[in-house]
Amino acid sequence: MISALMVRDLYKRYDNGFEALKGINLVVEQGDFFALLGPNGAGKSTTLGILSGLVQKTSGEAQILGNDVNRQAFLARRDLGVVPQEFNFNQFEKVLDIVLTQAGYFGITRQQAYGQAKTLLTELDLWDKRDQQSRLLSGGMKRRLMIARALIHQPKVLILDEPTAGVDIELRRSMWSFMQSLNRAGTTIILTTHYLEEAEQLCRNIAIINHGEIIQSTDMRSLLAQLNSETFVLDLVAPLTQPCQIDGYDVVSASGDDSLQVSVTKGQPINAIFTALDAQGIAVRSMRTKSNRLEELFVDLVRGDNA
Ligand code: ADP
Repeated sequence: MISALMVRDLYKRYDNGFEALKGINLVVEQGDFFALLGPNGAGKSTTLGILSGLVQKTSGEAQILGNDVNRQAFLARRDLGVVPQEFNFNQFEKVLDIVLTQAGYFGITRQQAYGQAKTLLTELDLWDKRDQQSRLLSGGMKRRLMIARALIHQPKVLILDEPTAGVDIELRRSMWSFMQSLNRAGTTIILTTHYLEEAEQLCRNIAIINHGEIIQSTDMRSLLAQLNSETFVLDLVAPLTQPCQIDGYDVVSASGDDSLQVSVTKGQPINAIFTALDAQGIAVRSMRTKSNRLEELFVDLVRGDNA
């Protein structure tokens, strides 16, 4: 089967001489939900820009469903929907018009596009706003409008650049479920995100990019399995009267604190922690992971890459 996305030896040097991509390789299969993750300046937007035809590559190859993004630009773009980070629609144009105008770029008439526009705007909770100028929408609504616009020509591959940046939790969850149902219906989804929890929740496969190079490309489960330790925060019923130690575990605690942190290495049981705390008369009220597991892993990988 043809891959949804194929990038080979992709290299980008900007006019000022800066090498933003140093020969990256990526394959995303049809039907996948894929995350491209990396810190600021890693090269994510450059990669997406090349795929969507906004940035000219220096060398290498990039294809959408087997069509070269430069040589077969129309075919490649027909199969691709892109949701960029910045709102880039006409602020004075009305919501429905923005979506219908976009259809025109793909040779779809307004009449032909109307049904799909209605479906999308309804699903994204924007149908009631269809006659409003886009500048009057809230930030969350503008973001959903960007998604509706990207989907109007029913692309098989959807690329989202930081789709939930600055979006509140409730809206983030509803966007997640929208993206999941889209993916279940067969759309390949590729997203970049800084919300690592988002990648962990949604994506089956992941590539991590840093300084213009792919430093990991694997499935989410194997990536998480590489995690060697996890830090838990235990909230205590009463403040500690003295620092606490647990044999075999790395504990961070101080007298007077009403919580403590325990690092657990892969394979170490966590019930031994509670037994030890019980013996010291320390009662635990609740327990949570200190930070996102993927984030811990990411920090490790990037540190390794820079070393
Ligand atoms: P990301 O999306 O991962 O934050 P970008 O692809 O936007 O990263 O940027 C990668 C690197 O390329 C950054 O160091 C950025 O400063 C540089 N860069 C981006 N656009 C240009 C440009 N037009 N000219 C020169 N350098 C650029």
